[in-house]
Amino acid sequence: MKELFPALLNNKDSVYLDSAASSIKPKAVIDAINDYYLNYSCNIDRGVYKESISATNKCNESREMVAKYINAKKEEIVFTRGASNSLNMVAMMISETLNDGDEVITSELEHHSSFLPWLNVSKHKNIVLKFVELTSDAKITVENFKKVLTNKTKVVALTHVSNVLGYKTPIEEIIKLSHEVGAIVSIDGAQAIPHMKIDVKALDVDFYSFSLHKMCGPTGLGVLYGKKELLEKYNPVELGGEMNDEVSIDSVTYKAIPHKFETGTMPIASIFAVKPCIELLNSIGIDNIEKRSVYLRNLALKEMMKMDDIIVYNASEESSIIAFNIRGVHSHDAVSSLAEDNICIRAGHHCAEPLHKFLKLSSTLRASFYFYNDEEDVRKFIDGLNKTIEFFKEVGYIG
Ligand code: PLP
Repeated sequence: MKELFPALLNNKDSVYLDSAASSIKPKAVIDAINDYYLNYSCNIDRGVYKESISATNKCNESREMVAKYINAKKEEIVFTRGASNSLNMVAMMISETLNDGDEVITSELEHHSSFLPWLNVSKHKNIVLKFVELTSDAKITVENFKKVLTNKTKVVALTHVSNVLGYKTPIEEIIKLSHEVGAIVSIDGAQAIPHMKIDVKALDVDFYSFSLHKMCGPTGLGVLYGKKELLEKYNPVELGGEMNDEVSIDSVTYKAIPHKFETGTMPIASIFAVKPCIELLNSIGIDNIEKRSVYLRNLALKEMMKMDDIIVYNASEESSIIAFNIRGVHSHDAVSSLAEDNICIRAGHHCAEPLHKFLKLSSTLRASFYFYNDEEDVRKFIDGLNKTIEFFKEVGYIG
């Protein structure tokens, strides 16, 4: 499998366990990006020459592929700069329609990109931000969600899969309950879509946001799925070229969806790379991808559970992530020591500071696995951990 990923071959002495931050890109994706720059390099939509028409067709094909992948209509797929951009757009477009006293439900489990847009709305509008009470192990449950849902709830903005703990939110039930009170549901799917089948129609979700770079796709490209009638109802949040139909000095009309939400020149090279990205995921199968990631994670976890100086925070979860700390060692010290052995994992609050405050932790280490990892990576990771623990014992951090 590693032979499909040049960056893994070019860094053979490294063990890449940071796929929750960004996945490694396969050669086919890089080739598609190069194809754009080598053979097209022009703009789309507005050219009548053959290169522009052909590039436009390829971008349309990419949109259709994304739509098919998540069971949406092609006009329901808005290309954005990434999940953060998509989530901000949702908050901005809905916020215009909120009134005094309206309630928005979110949680302390959120990535900052899911939470901060709504915190910002609450600073500018007289709305009430409500938080689903997390269980003691920081999970969102339907039972606790029901406690904050009221007839005043207008928006529910939650993560599908936590980027720190790998927990899955029971969004199916939450979406049903939210719709019963007429609320709109916006789901942050950045960590879910690389690991599970997403069917937006079956979920009946209103907005679903994700980034391509976490699913073996290019950077700089995200998706905002929105139900057709909602995208038609809301105003665009960014104005400029390409998204309008007719402009005069005192008025503007917008293009049809999804184009009214896509302002200016899009990241065309990245859009070219959508096809090989989705083809790769489809050829392996998302269930196999997840099975392999969880298998490797569990191999590592089993060894880590035998180490007295390791504290794991999400051992019981079926996930591709291990959230942990080394007793007595700050995560930044630990991650630097591991980096000396070319073990690539993350330390910090992972853009989820409210969650770390809830857990009463200043930071955590995160090892995240994907299908291109192998048993050798697990072995090197465990060896690196043992070496790091020994080092901190020697210098007296671990008693
Ligand atoms: N939401 C979650 C759960 C994430 O893990 C991330 C990225 O780590 C984001 C949102 C933001 O994604 P991006 O940085 O691609 O915009």
